[in-house]
Amino acid sequence: MTYIHQTITDLKRTSPSQCEFFQAVEEVLESIEPLLESVPRYKKQAIIQRMVEPERQIMFRVPWMDDNGDIQVNKGYRIEFNSALGPYKGGLRFHPSVNASIIKFLGFEQIFKNALTGLPIGGGKGGANFDPKGRSDAEIMRFCQSFMTELYRHIGPTTDVPAGDIGVGAREIGYMFGQYKRITGRYEGVLTGKSLLWGGSLARKEATGYGAVYFAKYMLEARGDSLKGKTCLVSGAGNVATYAIEKLYHLGAIPVSCSDSRGTIYHEKGIDLDLLKDIKEVRRKSLKEYIETHSDAQYISVADYPEDGHAVWRFKADAAFPCATQNELCVSDAKALLENGCTLVTEGANMPSTQEAVDTFIEAKIAFGPGKAANAGGVATSQLEMAQNASMQNWSFEQVDAKLKDIMKHVFNIANDTAAEFGQPGNLVFGANIAGFKRVAEAMIEQGAV
Ligand code: NDP
Repeated sequence: MTYIHQTITDLKRTSPSQCEFFQAVEEVLESIEPLLESVPRYKKQAIIQRMVEPERQIMFRVPWMDDNGDIQVNKGYRIEFNSALGPYKGGLRFHPSVNASIIKFLGFEQIFKNALTGLPIGGGKGGANFDPKGRSDAEIMRFCQSFMTELYRHIGPTTDVPAGDIGVGAREIGYMFGQYKRITGRYEGVLTGKSLLWGGSLARKEATGYGAVYFAKYMLEARGDSLKGKTCLVSGAGNVATYAIEKLYHLGAIPVSCSDSRGTIYHEKGIDLDLLKDIKEVRRKSLKEYIETHSDAQYISVADYPEDGHAVWRFKADAAFPCATQNELCVSDAKALLENGCTLVTEGANMPSTQEAVDTFIEAKIAFGPGKAANAGGVATSQLEMAQNASMQNWSFEQVDAKLKDIMKHVFNIANDTAAEFGQPGNLVFGANIAGFKRVAEAMIEQGAV
């Protein structure tokens, strides 16, 4: 058994039943095998054994009262994975599927993503198995206050700075910030993704979606191509998907789809962005409402698509941007995309493609941007929000967007150059894993056995 496989076997034995976490670890460790062979100090220093073990895992109960006066209880998590490069940084996810495996996979990916940005941020992730769907504003507030009543003691502007993720937007960040301030008496940059009225950064809301599209642009430029005129499939209808669609329009592409947990919209002439924002950001409704305004669009409900695959990837397009959730693009979807002429896949979501789907794209040598590189714009702009808070400044939208573009260029270059250096030109999964790992590993060695 190889050194890597022994590590994975040990991990599966000591942290059983965490399949999403194992999937993320296997992908990273298998790519860094050539590096481990060429740099013996990584084994001597037990770097990978230290990296797969979070520095700290906080799990807590979150009791709260619903509108009927009944007490509900959820599970809360904050996984502080690695602080070699800076304070733990990574979002909070509120979704019924949240469990320790999902938060650990996200936290593990976050370490390398944050390293790739070149910024001083460590990796962490958190959340709760709370389902915000159908909850009143008062219930959301009580839940957020209860969640922060425990979380506040573990976070701080120089120790751990959470942000939003699925189910956590400006409203939830506002309620959590208010509770933190009330308990501690401190007004400080302890959360990012804050409202523009009180400490948020311009362009943070747009950053993940915009950043993924910038990353796609740089991938295509390296191949002598551009996004102009390209038909693009986008999944998701939340923060990342909405602003990926917006930036695709800015760059002359035609985004023709979006999806939510209940169904997919395909609109050949291009998604109506204002309507999408109105349905999802303002009214928080199902995408099904889209066809009430556009009878020429198609709506395919998840219930009507029982095959092994996802409706959104079955349309003809030049490019695909999975921006919803993990494992939403499987190997049959990947094959369908390739058969339909797709030559670019950029992951706005975290780990949206299964390992087999990723292998299919790599083998086909299409331009493939893995999430940990392509969606790094969100966390990078969160760090810009921290920098503005710490220096008590506000930068303009254009200043933040220009920095975001530079960071995405840096992330692309470092992943692309590293892939070429290690003999796999164009394989950005490999390049991103090695480049991110090297930066964290070297910092860990310099800081000793901690
Ligand atoms: P949101 O909660 O804003 O949106 C998520 C969207 O995905 C919603 O439209 C949701 O549908 C849809 N969705 C959820 N589950 C499924 C499913 N099983 N099938 C189809 N659609 C589904 O989250 P974000 O946009 O913030 O996050 C999306 C992804 O991007 C996640 O993987 C997240 O970790 C990642 N990410 C986010 C960053 C950020 O800055 N926000 C930064 C980096 C990565 P519905 O509306 O029905 O709930």
